[in-house]
Amino acid sequence: MEKQPTIGVLALQGDFAAHMRALERAGAHAVEARSRDDLAQLDGLVIPGGESTTMLKLLDEEHLFEPLREFGRSKPVFGTCAGAILLAREVLHPPQASLDLMDLTVERNGYGRQIDSRIASIRIEGEAQPLEAVFIRAPIIRRVGPKGRVLATYQGDPVLVQQGIHLVATFHPELTGDARVHRQFVKMAAGRYTEARGQWTVIRGQGSGIRGQGPGVSGRGSAGIE
Ligand code: GLN
Repeated sequence: MEKQPTIGVLALQGDFAAHMRALERAGAHAVEARSRDDLAQLDGLVIPGGESTTMLKLLDEEHLFEPLREFGRSKPVFGTCAGAILLAREVLHPPQASLDLMDLTVERNGYGRQIDSRIASIRIEGEAQPLEAVFIRAPIIRRVGPKGRVLATYQGDPVLVQQGIHLVATFHPELTGDARVHRQFVKMAAGRYTEARGQWTVIRGQGSGIRGQGPGVSGRGSAGIE
């Protein structure tokens, strides 16, 4: 049995509870992270969706901005939606501070205000089974640096990108019952990711492969958009 990683979910604001459930479904021990001390016990961290400006303000108030950046220098971080905005090097529309853990340029609310949210079927690199992606006032990734690996696109734009030990999704994988994206991150946090063989398709669990958790399996529908 491989070690079960302890993964924190930044619980200052946003949909952290849904991420905790998704991480548990994907085989991790999930805990809320609110302080510098909380970070010390973690193998990885999820920065959830929410409102990135509010999160920045709270990170500042809690004196967590620098500790988070430091954490990300050696430990895996997975940012979804607002979390992806925080992980990027550069943020547009309007420009704002970010942790600069991944070489990305991200435009906030990139799909415009008329269509605030949508559910789309996307394909992940190397995966036959499509993934249902929930977008909520999502950013658009406008630039991916040379070390970034685009794992999925929607309408031609990257929506799931991995760079070394970090991962971002502009959609909300925690809102469907499909555990594949969280499972990928759990493996990264368990230390099973290697840069050289960092293909989505080669990072697999023992026994239950990532294909075992396709759409239509447990929880889909009941989880829904919260
Ligand atoms: N629009 C939000 C922002 O710019 C992100 C939305 C989300 O996380 N669902 O921070």
